[in-house]
Amino acid sequence: MRERPTAQHPVVIAGAGWAGLSAAVELAAHGVPVSLLESARQPGGRARSVFAHDLRVDNGQHLLVGACQSLLSLLERIQVDPRKAFLRLPLTLRLVEPDGPGLHLRAPRWPSPLHLPVALATAHGLTPGERIRALRFGRKLSTLDIHRTDDISVLALLHSEAQPAAVIRKLWGPLCIAALNTLPEAASARIFVRVLRETFSGPRKHSDLLIPGRGLSELLPVPCVDYLHHHGTHLETGQRVTGLSVQDGRIQGVSVHGRDRAASHVILATPHVISRRLMSRHAALQGLAAQLAGLGNEPVTTLYLQFAPKTRLPIPVLGLLNGLSGWVFDRALCGQPGLMAVVISARGHHERLTEETLTAQVAAELAAQFPGWPPHRRSLLIREKRATFCSRVGVDLLRPVNRTPVDGLWLAGDYTATGLPATLESAVRSGVAAAQAVLDCLRRGDGH
Ligand SMILES: Cc1cc2nc3c(=O)[nH]c(=O)nc-3n(C[C@H](O)[C@H](O)[C@H](O)COP(=O)(O)OP(=O)(O)OC[C@H]3O[C@@H](n4cnc5c(N)ncnc54)[C@H](O)[C@@H]3O)c2cc1C
Repeated sequence: MRERPTAQHPVVIAGAGWAGLSAAVELAAHGVPVSLLESARQPGGRARSVFAHDLRVDNGQHLLVGACQSLLSLLERIQVDPRKAFLRLPLTLRLVEPDGPGLHLRAPRWPSPLHLPVALATAHGLTPGERIRALRFGRKLSTLDIHRTDDISVLALLHSEAQPAAVIRKLWGPLCIAALNTLPEAASARIFVRVLRETFSGPRKHSDLLIPGRGLSELLPVPCVDYLHHHGTHLETGQRVTGLSVQDGRIQGVSVHGRDRAASHVILATPHVISRRLMSRHAALQGLAAQLAGLGNEPVTTLYLQFAPKTRLPIPVLGLLNGLSGWVFDRALCGQPGLMAVVISARGHHERLTEETLTAQVAAELAAQFPGWPPHRRSLLIREKRATFCSRVGVDLLRPVNRTPVDGLWLAGDYTATGLPATLESAVRSGVAAAQAVLDCLRRGDGH
């Protein structure tokens, strides 16, 4: 039987976003209960359900791919059946434009690695020459490796790989913005290549699209909290960690609203801006805090438009080219017929538009594409200004590992050095890795 790791003082996790929750589940599954402290009134962080204007929606529409293996394993552990939680579609990209053929690409159910070349070779909306160039780049992905210090922008990489303008505009550009939430002229080619490789070079099912079929809170945070409850760990909401207690290079605990909580290990699973603030007060952590200052932030804007219930998209998710709207999701999937979630990723002039103007412009773009649709009945705009860190050129040089210079203090979150952009998968991988590092210490008897 495996020895149960123990700590003299509890392990504290600050932040119950997807990173903090996955760290807590990993520890609880190994018999280590934790104090999970969350400043908000509900868990989930940047991926949670919200209720506003009589609508229960997500703070932002999320999309995953089959390559999110850590996330899928976590769901299995907390007994959420991914077959019921997601609509799984073989890779399908359909992007439409008012005055052109757009792009339609669909991977056949053929074994890897044939599915991507066949999808590119049969894509509608590209000329034969454009398809061949796209194929050449697609084939190169499994061997292309960009070192942290040699990073260039996605756009520079695509130009150096002789990708035609139409292929960039209709295919690689929208994929880059969707995956990295950063514009191709600024985005890191190293991270982009990593995402494409994880998605397309593994088994075919890794490139499947996974669209949540329920609200984000019901998908993971709520089942995680139930799992933790059954394993002796309780989520404490409304508990803001306001300071770290460090002595002789070792963590002693945290303060919550001015009250000290002793801890043998602390996992800081707060957003990078908050982790930086908490660490910057300690000499041993100031270098790391300064490093995090370079990560920056990118927004994601989600506009929900409620149409008559019979209004449907031709497929569950559709891209719009040449406008403000990026991707449109049909929320009928979540049992909300007629509700469309329009996602506008990364920065842009939309940030400066008033709610009224932005809503009118997006509604006009949808009306141009779907002239038969009735006018929308109501709308809800959610602007997340700090949705993700900025996956810009060279950012991997700034991303920290889980271990910090203070013994017993660990970092977890989508921004740590997972190699992935700011995604749910990155958050979960990071949380699990931080918990495993704590478990290793506890097994060695380092629970002071
Ligand atoms: C609108 C939007 C759309 C997105 N779309 C996608 C997508 O399609 N696919 C995808 O994979 N990813 C997407 N992402 C990114 C994804 O949601 C994040 O990468 C992920 O949720 C980050 O999780 P985290 O646990 O690292 O951080 P967070 O979710 O930020 O969790 C940190 C937690 O710490 C808490 N906290 C803060 N300060 C304190 C404190 N002092 N004490 C205690 N607790 C504190 C916060 O309340 C929060 O709950 C999107 C994000 C947004 C906002």
